[in-house]
Amino acid sequence: MSTRALEILQNTFGYQAFRDQQATIVNHVSTGGDALVLMPTGGGKSLCYQIPSILRDGLAIIVSPLIALMQNQVEALQQLGINAAYLNSSLSIEDTQTITRQALRGELKILYVAPERLMASSFLQLLDQVNNNVGLALFAIDEAHCVSQWGHDFRPEYRQLTILHERFPDIPRIALTATADAATRAEIIHQLKLENAAQFVSSFDRPNIRYHVTQKNNARQQLLHFIETQHPNDAGIIYCLSRKKVEETAEWLASKGWPALPYHAGLDAKIREKNQRQFLREEAVIMVATIAFGMGIDKPNVRFVAHLDLPKSMESYYQETGRAGRDGFAANAWMTYGLGDVVSMRQMLDSGDASDERKRLEKHKLDALLGFCESTSCRHQAILHYFGEEHPGDCEQCDNCLTPADTWDATQAARMALSCVYRTGQRFGAGHLIDVLLGKRTAQIERFQHEQLSTYGIGKNLNQSQWSSVYRQLAASGYLDVDFQAYGGLKLTEMAKPVLKGELEVWQRRDAEPEKRSSTAERASRAREAYPGANDDPLWLALKAKRMELAKSQGVPPYLIFHDSTLLEIMNQRPSSLTELGRISGVGQAKLARYGDDFLEVLEQN
Ligand code: ADP
Repeated sequence: MSTRALEILQNTFGYQAFRDQQATIVNHVSTGGDALVLMPTGGGKSLCYQIPSILRDGLAIIVSPLIALMQNQVEALQQLGINAAYLNSSLSIEDTQTITRQALRGELKILYVAPERLMASSFLQLLDQVNNNVGLALFAIDEAHCVSQWGHDFRPEYRQLTILHERFPDIPRIALTATADAATRAEIIHQLKLENAAQFVSSFDRPNIRYHVTQKNNARQQLLHFIETQHPNDAGIIYCLSRKKVEETAEWLASKGWPALPYHAGLDAKIREKNQRQFLREEAVIMVATIAFGMGIDKPNVRFVAHLDLPKSMESYYQETGRAGRDGFAANAWMTYGLGDVVSMRQMLDSGDASDERKRLEKHKLDALLGFCESTSCRHQAILHYFGEEHPGDCEQCDNCLTPADTWDATQAARMALSCVYRTGQRFGAGHLIDVLLGKRTAQIERFQHEQLSTYGIGKNLNQSQWSSVYRQLAASGYLDVDFQAYGGLKLTEMAKPVLKGELEVWQRRDAEPEKRSSTAERASRAREAYPGANDDPLWLALKAKRMELAKSQGVPPYLIFHDSTLLEIMNQRPSSLTELGRISGVGQAKLARYGDDFLEVLEQN
C-alpha cells in the first residue's frame, strides 16, 4: 500500500484506516488496473475512486446517473478541499465554459458527468484535449447497475460507455455498484466489457440494519406506532406502491404532527426537488415515496425505511431497505404486509403487458420475497442466501432472531381453507371464504346459497384473523393463486392437490399478537438506540445547532459539514485543541481549518 494513499485518507478525509478491501482497490486502480467493485450501500465505494483520482496525474472522470448525486459528491469533495466539479444539464453555458477551461488548464482533479453528456461528440473532443494537455487519471462508472435493463434504474446511455475504453484504452476504469444479484453483475461485466477487470466483491451484509416484517392489521396505526416508539426524532423513508397512497399517507402523517413530505414521479419537478432538498438538508424529515425516490439519496443518517406495500422482489427489498443506516449506526427496516398485498401484487404482474417469459420471471421473484416474508428463520441469513452468500444466522438483528416465531401444524386448517375455495367455485376473495368457514349469514352468502355448502361453518375453531393468516400464507406459499380475470378471486394451484388429498402436511407461522401502544418511557429508551445517550444531551443539541448554522450559511446539507458519527465522537471525546479535534475520525485538514474553532467554542460553552 502506498504511503501516499494512507496520507490522503488521513489528512484529507480525516479517517484513520482503510476499510476491508478499500486499500487493495485503491492500490489496484492507482497503479492502472481496471476494477469492478461490488460493495453494499454505505460500504465506502466513493473513496475507492476518489483517492486514486487524487493519486494519479491528470483529470479523473466520474460517470454518475443523477444530478442530485453529483452535486452532493462534489459539495462533499469541495468541503474536503479537493478541486471537483460536475457537468450536467443544470449548468448555465457560462458555468459549463468555466469548468471546461479549468479542466483544460489542469485546475480540476475530479469531474463528474452525466452519461448523456459524455457521449456528446463535443465532450469526447474535450476529453481528447484534456488527455493531450494534462492527462486523464481514470474513468469511474458509478451506479454501474444502470446498464441493466432489468433493473428499474436502467439508463440506456450507460450501454454506450464502452466508448471510453475504445477511445482511451490505457486509462484505468473502475465500475461500482451496490447491486447484489448475480444476473446484474454478469450484465455489467458484459455490457461494459470488463471481462479482464479485477473483481472486488464485499460481503453484502448490512449488520446494522434490523429487519422486521409484521402482519398487516391496521397499517396506518401500525406505522404510527412504529415511528412514535422507535423513531420520534429521526429521518426516514416510507415506501408506498401508488402515487395516491404516497400523498394520502404523507398528508395523514402531517396531520398527526409528523414532518412528512410526499415524493413521486407525478409531482411537479419543482415540488419534488424542494421536498428532496428538505429531506437532505433538515434533520428529521420523513419522506413518503414511491420507488421513484431512492437512487442517489446518500444521506447517511436515514434511520428507518418502512414499507407499507410489498416491494417487487428481494432485490428491490434489499436495495430499498439499504438506504437506511449508511453511516453504520443502528437503523430499522420495517415492513407491514398482508393477504391484500399478495393479491394486488400478483394482479399487477398478471395485468401488465410484459411478455409471458418476463411475467414468469417476475412472479418467481415475487414468490421469493413472499417466502422471505413468511419465513421464521434469520432474515440476515435469508437475504444473503438469496444473493448467494453465507451467513451463520442468529443475527440478533431481526424479528425472527429477537422473538422467534412459533409454527403450528396447519394441515387441517389448510384443507378446510382450500376446500372452501374449491366448493365456492374458485372465484371469491378471502373475506367471503372466511365468512363461509365461520358460518356467517351475509347477503353474499345468501345470494350464492353458500350456507348449503359442506364447508359452511366448519371453521369455528379459528377466528377471523387466524383464518386470514392461513389464507395469506397459503397464497404466499403458492397453494393458492390469484385469478386476475375473476377480480382477484383465489384459485387452487397444482400444489393444493396433495394437501386436499391429505398427502401433504402444512406448517405455518403463528402470527404475533397486534402490537400494543407502548408507554412513553419505553418510547424514549428505544429512540435513543442509534445515538446512545445523545438525544437529550444539551451538548449534542448545541453541536447539532452549530452544524446546522454552518450548513445553512453555505446552503449544503448538515452531514456535509460533519457526519453524526463525527459529531458524536466530538461530544464524547471533548477535544480541547485543534490538534485533538483533528484526531477525530471525519475531521480532515480542510474541515479542521474551516470549522475547528467554531466547534471548540461550542465545547467550551457547554
Ligand atoms: P457507498 O457509496 O458505498 O454507499 P460511501 O462512499 O458513501 O458509501 O461511504 C459510506 C460512509 O462511510 C461515508 O460516510 C464515508 O465517509 C464513510 N467511510 C468510507 N470509508 C471510510 C473509512 N475508511 N473510514 C471511515 N469512514 C469511511
